[in-house]
This record gives sequence, structure tokens and C-alpha cells, in this order.
Amino acid sequence: MTKAFKKAVAKRKIRTLARGAKKRIYFFGGGKADGNKDMKTLLGGKGAGLAEMTNIGIPVPPGFTITTEVCTAFYAGGRKLPAALGTEIRASVARTEALQGAKLGDPKKPLLLSVRSGARASMPGMMDTILNLGLNDLTVAGLGTGGAAAARFAYDSYRRFVAMYGDVVLGMKPERKEDRDPFEVLLERKKRARGVKGDADLSAGDLKELVAEFKAEIRAKRGVDFPEDPFEQLLGAVTAVFNSWENPRADAYRKLNGIPADWGTAVNVQAMVFGNKGNDSATGVAFTRDPASGKNELYGEFLINAQGEDVVAGIRTPDKISALEKDFPGAYRGLLEVRRKLERHFRDMQDIEFTIEAGKLYVLQCRNGKRTGFAGVRIAVEMVEEKLIGKKEALLRVEPEGLNQLLRPVFEARAKQEATGAGRLLAKGLPAGPGAATGRIVFFADDAEAWAARGETVVLCRHETSPEDIRGMNASVGFLTAFGGMTSHAALVARQMGKVAIVGCEAASFDYPQRVMTLATAAGRRELREGAWVSLDGFTGEVIEGRVETTASEVVRVLVARDLAAKDAPSYQRYASLLGWADEIRRLRVRANADQPDQAAAAVAFGAEGIGLCRTEHMFFGEGKIGPMREMIVAETEEARRQALAKLLPLQREDFAGIFRAMAGRAVTIRTLDPPLHEFLPHDEAGIVALATATGRSVADLKVRIEDLREANPMLGHRGCRLGISYPEITEMQASAIFEAACDVAAAGQKVLPEIMIPLVGTRKELDLQSRLVRETAEQVFAERGRRVDYLVGTMIEVPRAALAAGAIAEAADFFSFGTNDLTQMTFGLSRDDVPRVLADYLARDIFNVDPFVSIDRDGVGELMRMAVSRGRAKKPKLKLGICGEHGGDPASVLLCQELGLDYVSCSPYRLPIARLAAAQAILKSRATA
Ligand code: PEP
Ligand code: MG
Repeated sequence: MTKAFKKAVAKRKIRTLARGAKKRIYFFGGGKADGNKDMKTLLGGKGAGLAEMTNIGIPVPPGFTITTEVCTAFYAGGRKLPAALGTEIRASVARTEALQGAKLGDPKKPLLLSVRSGARASMPGMMDTILNLGLNDLTVAGLGTGGAAAARFAYDSYRRFVAMYGDVVLGMKPERKEDRDPFEVLLERKKRARGVKGDADLSAGDLKELVAEFKAEIRAKRGVDFPEDPFEQLLGAVTAVFNSWENPRADAYRKLNGIPADWGTAVNVQAMVFGNKGNDSATGVAFTRDPASGKNELYGEFLINAQGEDVVAGIRTPDKISALEKDFPGAYRGLLEVRRKLERHFRDMQDIEFTIEAGKLYVLQCRNGKRTGFAGVRIAVEMVEEKLIGKKEALLRVEPEGLNQLLRPVFEARAKQEATGAGRLLAKGLPAGPGAATGRIVFFADDAEAWAARGETVVLCRHETSPEDIRGMNASVGFLTAFGGMTSHAALVARQMGKVAIVGCEAASFDYPQRVMTLATAAGRRELREGAWVSLDGFTGEVIEGRVETTASEVVRVLVARDLAAKDAPSYQRYASLLGWADEIRRLRVRANADQPDQAAAAVAFGAEGIGLCRTEHMFFGEGKIGPMREMIVAETEEARRQALAKLLPLQREDFAGIFRAMAGRAVTIRTLDPPLHEFLPHDEAGIVALATATGRSVADLKVRIEDLREANPMLGHRGCRLGISYPEITEMQASAIFEAACDVAAAGQKVLPEIMIPLVGTRKELDLQSRLVRETAEQVFAERGRRVDYLVGTMIEVPRAALAAGAIAEAADFFSFGTNDLTQMTFGLSRDDVPRVLADYLARDIFNVDPFVSIDRDGVGELMRMAVSRGRAKKPKLKLGICGEHGGDPASVLLCQELGLDYVSCSPYRLPIARLAAAQAILKSRATA
């Protein structure tokens, strides 16, 4: 045998040996641990954290972690602990005893243990925990030496332990929700007998009696004795924690959060430390930075003479961490040192649980702290400045959706808490426009305008909104609708205008004549009248009664309102740094969906590199435009239609010129008319009368015409390019307006780049016909104006057939833009507006894991897109590709667009920063997987 061969065999032997006798217990204590932070899979999050903290010299009570693999073996063996595990546990207990100078079961100096679960992913409160393990009738005396207070403390710990053990290990927990915990019942009876109110008023003697009563109850109910042997207690507790991995609560949580059942939980056994040993003890939670604002200072709270549960249960009001400096100066310094070490080491904000026992500090847990969107940005940017992390890491740390908190007004956290705590949360709808709005209720768009004009802040509440409400919507701080999904009219408009909106709030019903909105709440029906205050949380969809204070966004004040200087706006500066780094990295371009010059200006301020969708029908919402638009729709002859179009042409030309100017040479994709006609027709008598006057027709005649235009399925009806095919003069007028505006702006010395987009194309022929019309009109205008401008003609891919026939369509198109709103609607055959009815059930039954109108359905709609990209580019390799459905601003969809090789995403102006960050993350993530 050669030397090398011998070595290889020896190595293999060692590996085989190691595999045969897998390490099942990882010890930590005395400044050294067997595990480390990278072993979450094996040790769970908590176990890995305890090991790592021990290794870097954080004061952690010693103990050991039984691995998740043992959990798997436990279930494989029919819920039995593996043989020999007991011996290994004994050895680890002995090491713990040596470090603590105490012994399990020792009547004089007993070691007490905590036994806790700890899976790979945090599952707060889902599994079981046992504290004070090791107490029995002998050891309780050892714990209680040192006076009356100590004796009381010992019996208090003992009765808690017996109750917890009874519940968790011996099956005393009530099974039906009507039943009460038997130990609670006995405790209450004891207090009544003693004539006292609080648990703390019971004496050591009372508590001792309770222990005996608890044990008798266990014997009576379960026919077993409470185990006095501490080691038997320990094996029972470990078994119970493994069992709790499969309890119904944990099972439901896992399903909800996509945690696989075969991950299993680890068990952490650790020496107990007590925060409730007297006034020199305390317990608390702390964050290494403020999790709400991100400020770089220790943040947290603590309770003197208390146990961890007391902080969480919120029975006593805890003190601010800063007060610790006075009461426990040594421990406070220790905590600052822990903060420094943890941040240097983990390079992220940490959330810790700590206990001070007799003046000495212990850390019991650490993990990456949850934070607000606001804090997320601040912490990431400041950690780069502090050289703790690099820019790429910072970009990956920030949740793109969280940027909303920097871009929108938000509720004062305390004020919202108070409002919901006071029972003012009335209903929930779909959060269609993020931000916080508080204002007085109005039910009609013209009221919104009138009230706003006299200085009132208003929230427009309606069953649904329509294009004629647009000015009222603009005058409101937010809107609430009972109807519609995330791509309904109200939702689209809200996001484009940057308004707060809740849609599909099915609990709301309206009595317009009486001017009342009724909300069906859990506590009964609540009526809100016109003028009453209401607050909308557009992040969560919560509708809150009354006023809730809000704070404006610094970023919007600097970039859009321009009433704040960047140098006075630290949160703007951090936003600008972060997005600057994102722009250096991303490859996807970002464009905006905007159809008004002011929206285009906001889009540029938020980083738009072009306009990806200008919905021309939205341009008719403005002052004086809806009339001619309606005339055009109800026209019955080409002549009448041309007359109405002639009125619209100059209005459109001006709008286009305004947008070209605002975009300063950037590309502007203008879509030809695509109105679901029903949205534009007058709904009320007054509207019909006005239209009759304008057209010189009779009201009766118009009513017949409107009835004629009614469609069974307007979303699948006479809309999109179908209108331009039936009435070419509409496309002609629009193309004239576009090219005239382009020539005018170009004549003034500014670059223009129009891209004309044909909607709802399903066949190449449709595109051919419309494209030819556009190109002929362009030539005509160029000849008239004596100048030419560059332009493109392309199509939306929003009908499934277009994705299938993308090869042929590409031959006639300069670009494709995916209209994923309609593509989703038509792929699922599920109406954009009616989705709220279906959504709740579909989410609850895991048919959808997210609203497909919010995040692209990868397997269906995503596949159609993939097909369209490959078929289109096969015919035209340089075909420009974008997306302009609402998904363009959704981070998961942005990632898909990057994977599909699109050139740009287009979204509403206020989502651009989210798209920019998501596009940078898409690159970083794709590099990581490559
Ligand atoms: C789409 O369908 O995705 C789209 C952008 O068009 P609209 O929302 O106007 O139908
Ligand atoms: Mg569409």
C-alpha cells in the first residue's frame, strides 16, 4: 500500500466512524462551545446563537444543545428518545454542574435548568418551554436558604415548575377552549381563601401548600406521580419539547410560514439564572440599535425582580434601558460591552434577552433584530459608514417594500397603537396604496374638491371609483372602496398619484342619499357619517375610526414638494445613498407609469429613466376633457366621432408636450386608447343631460345609445386595439397629437423619444393595421411640420395569444411591453376587479400564496412571459422588452424580469425606489446563485 492510499483509507475510516457515531449533543460554557453560528440547521437558531456568543466571550449561562437530527430520529423511532442519549445527557449535565458549582438534585446547592425548543427558523411561542427544572421537595430547601424572601422565592419557583411540567409533560393542559387550566383554578382558590388579590401576596407557606395541591391534582387527573427525580424530570422535558414540534399550533405556524416538517427542533438545556431573586436582579430585552428609528444606541426595557415572561406578558410596565445605568451600573456597562461585541461580530443589529441575577449580567438569546423599513435603511447605511458592512451587503439587507415607509406619510406609532387598543380598528381591506391618511369622510368626488378647497382634509369613501372621480381623488388624502382588487381603478390611480388607498373593503356598505357608510365589524355595525374622521393604514389595509396623527415623508418633501432642503433631511440623505449604490449595480432600467406632467415630474424625481406606460384614456380625466371623450364614445357616425376627436386633439397634444418636456429627452411610451368603455360613460342623470346638451341629442336618444354600448364583459369587450380597428380615426387623432407635440418640443430644442404602444393585441394582423396607421400619420405630420423625430411602434403583450404568437408579432414590433395586469386576468380567467371575493379563500387554502395581481404567478403567467421572450427574440434578437403591469414595482416580479432578460420595468412613480433597489438585489441574488 502506498502512503497516500493508506492515508485515504484511514481518512475514510474516520469519516465512517464519525458517521456511525454522530455527535448528538453540543456543549457551551466556560468561554468555549462545540458549535457556532453557522450551525443553525443542526443546532437551531437559538442553539447556534448561544454557541457563538459563548465563543466570543459573552456571558451566557452554560448548557448544551441536543441536535435537530435527534428530533428527526425521535420521530423516526416512534416518538422515542434514542438509546444512549440519556448517558450523553448525563455527561453534559455533569459539565454544566462543574461550571456552575451546583449539582442537579443536590439538596444544598441544586443546579436548576431551563429546557427550551429552538428550530432553524424562529417560531415564537409555538413550542414548549420548561423552567426551574430540578426542583423537588428536597432541593427547594437548598434554593430557599437565606431568609424568608429566599424561601418564598424558592416555593414560588417550585409551584411554577410543577404547573409548567404538569401542563407540558404530563398532559394537564386544557384541551377544549371552554376549559380552564387546573393549576390556575387552584391558585385562584388559594388567593380567595387567603383574602388576597395578587400572586405576590401569597406567603411561602401558601405556595408550599399549593405545590402539594398541584401534585395531588396531577395524581387525580393523570394517575401518575409528579417525578421527584430531577433526571427523570429532564428526560420528560426533552421528550415533551420534541413532541411539541408536532403540536397543532406549531404545525399551523409551519404551514403558514413554509417551514418544512422534517427540519425538526433542537432542545436547549441551560443552567437557570433568576431575574426574580430580589431587588438586585432584573430581566429584560434589548436591541443593539433602536428597531423603530434605527438610531445607533442601545434600546430596550427591563423589569426589576421579575422573570422573562413578565416582560412579555406586559403585566407590569417595564423601565427604559437607560434607567439601568442608575440601578445596575455594572450590568449596564456589561450590556454596552455585549452590544459592542455582538455588533462587531454579527455585523447586524441584534435583539437580545438578558437577565441580571444578583447584579451579574447574563445573555440568554441573541438573533438578528426585526426592524421597521425606516430603521432598516438607517441601520444599513450607517453600518456602511461605520465600515461594518459593504455596500452590496447593505443593499441586500434592506427589504425593498420597507422603503415605502420613507416615501409615504406614516402614523405616529404610539398614536396608532392607542387607537387600535381603544377598539377603534373597524375593518380591513386590501392595502392598495401604502401610507397613512387621516381625514374627514366624504362620499362624492365633487364634495371632496369643495371641502378640500376650504381647507379640510378629506378621505373619499365610495363603493368604487370611476374616471369621473379623478379630481376628487386628487383632492383627497386617501380613498376607501368596498369593491375592486389591487389593479382596480382606485388602486391604479392611488399608486400613480401617491395616495393612500384601501380597496375591496367588503365590510363597508354605503347609503349615499343619507351620506352614511356602515362597517360590519366584529362588535356589530358601525355607522360613519359624512364629516366624521377616519384613518386609513395603506400598509396593512386597516380602517380606523377617528383621527390618528401622521408624519410626512422627508424624501417626498425634498424631491417632490421641494419645501425641505436635502441638507436638513437626514433620512432623505440615507435614502439617496442607498439608492445611489443600487443604481451603480442594477442592470434593469426603470421607467414609470405616468399620464400627467406632474406625475412625470415626480417620476423623474424618483429616478425614472423613461415612461413605460402613459395610459392616454387617463388623460381625459382632467378638467374639460371628459365631455369630448364621452361625445366621442357615444358618436354613431364617423363624422360625429371626428368632430369630437377634433376637440380632443389639441388637449392631447398639450398633455403630450407637457410630458415630453417633463421627461427631458427620456423615452416616453404612449399607449393608444384602451378604455373599458363602461368606465367612461355617464352614470347619472345629470351627466347624461350634460352630454345631451353638448351633442345636441335628446336624453332619450342618448340613453338608448348608452344601453347599446353596454357590454356583458367590458374587460373582454370592445377595448384596446379593437377600438382603433373599428374606428381608425381614433388612432389617427392620437398619433397626430403625439407627433405634433413631439415636433413642437423638438423645435424648442429638446430631445424627444416617443414610443407608441398598441394595447390588447392578440394577432400580428391587429398590430400591422394599427402600426401602419401610426407610421402613415407620422409621415404626414413630419411633412407638415418640416421635421422628423425618431420613434418606435411596439405592442403590449397582455393577451395570452400574443405570448403564444410572439414570434410573428415580434416581426411587426419594435418592442414588447408585458401588460401583466391583463395577462394575469386572462391567464387565470379571473377578473381584476372581482378578485377580492376569491382571494381570502384562495389564500387560506394555499391555492395562492400571494395575490397574483401583486406578484407575478411564476408558473403560469411567468411561463407565458418566458415563451414570449424567447419566441420574440428568436425572430428579433434586439427586440426591446419591458413590463408595465403593476407587477413592475413588486420585488419578486422584478427578480423574475431580470431572469427573463427584460430591459426595463415600469411602475407607478412612488414605487420606483422600490424597483431600483429590487433590481440591484436581483443582480446580487443572481450572482449568488450562479
Ligand atoms: C396591463 O394590463 O398590465 C396594463 C398595464 O394595462 P391596464 O392596466 O391599463 O389594463
Ligand atoms: Mg391592460
